Amino acid sequence: MSKPHIPLDQIRAQVTECRRCPLADGRTQTVFGVGNPSARVLIVGEAPGKNEDLQGEPFVGAAGKYLNELLAIAGLRREDVFIANVLKCRPPGNRDPRPEEIELCAPYLREQTRTIDPEFIVTLGNFSTKFILKTEVGITRLHGTMQRAGKFKVFPIFHPAAALYDGSKREALENDFATLGELLRESDAASGAAPAAGASGNAASAPGAAASAAGAPGAASAPSATASAAGAPSAAPAGGAAASGEPSQPDSAPHIEQPHLL
Ligand code: SF4
Repeated sequence: MSKPHIPLDQIRAQVTECRRCPLADGRTQTVFGVGNPSARVLIVGEAPGKNEDLQGEPFVGAAGKYLNELLAIAGLRREDVFIANVLKCRPPGNRDPRPEEIELCAPYLREQTRTIDPEFIVTLGNFSTKFILKTEVGITRLHGTMQRAGKFKVFPIFHPAAALYDGSKREALENDFATLGELLRESDAASGAAPAAGASGNAASAPGAAASAAGAPGAASAPSATASAAGAPSAAPAGGAAASGEPSQPDSAPHIEQPHLL
């Protein structure tokens, strides 16, 4: 029997109190995530930066403004999606997340994902992509290709902040978000659903409606590290993707079929 989903408010309350790793000592506040609790698209970044730590929301400031523009290319508004990070607290000096921090924080992202139950997980940058797909293949090879983690479609894209420092990444980012928009429309067409870019594939789930929820964990116990979803179909072969909602993959693109989420 599958584990019941935990309401987002309960996961948020656990994150707010969390002191499982040393990042708790340097944070202004935790950054749980924001957006539609029944989102069809879950955006996963790396960790809060300075502005996020101060404001308590992911992707604010210049990177957040650019993310909003990129979402619009895909036909999405910020309020359509749910935006979260792998880490909920800011690493000092915006250094890279450490493996032990990711391991300790991962259960929160996993439970967020189970509760939101998105169709697509868009991983932004190397950390979230490698973490969710459990791969050492980097974002440069994986961006713009459809992958799988459990039942979830995973679509890696460069981190928007990368394009702010390296303008050559802008074109790839914008192309990948355009592809994401195509995938959403193709998936709608394949399922016969009316186009509704941001809403969950479940027609009954309107924005603001919490996903099914029960079984709050004990406050001190982070959720265990196994997810149940598996057996997702393979990505379509290169060139024949539209009907399945899968993108065309370049012949050289790696395909990752990760049986478990996180
Ligand atoms: S980064 Fe995650 S595990 Fe570490 S204190 Fe913050 S919420 Fe807890």
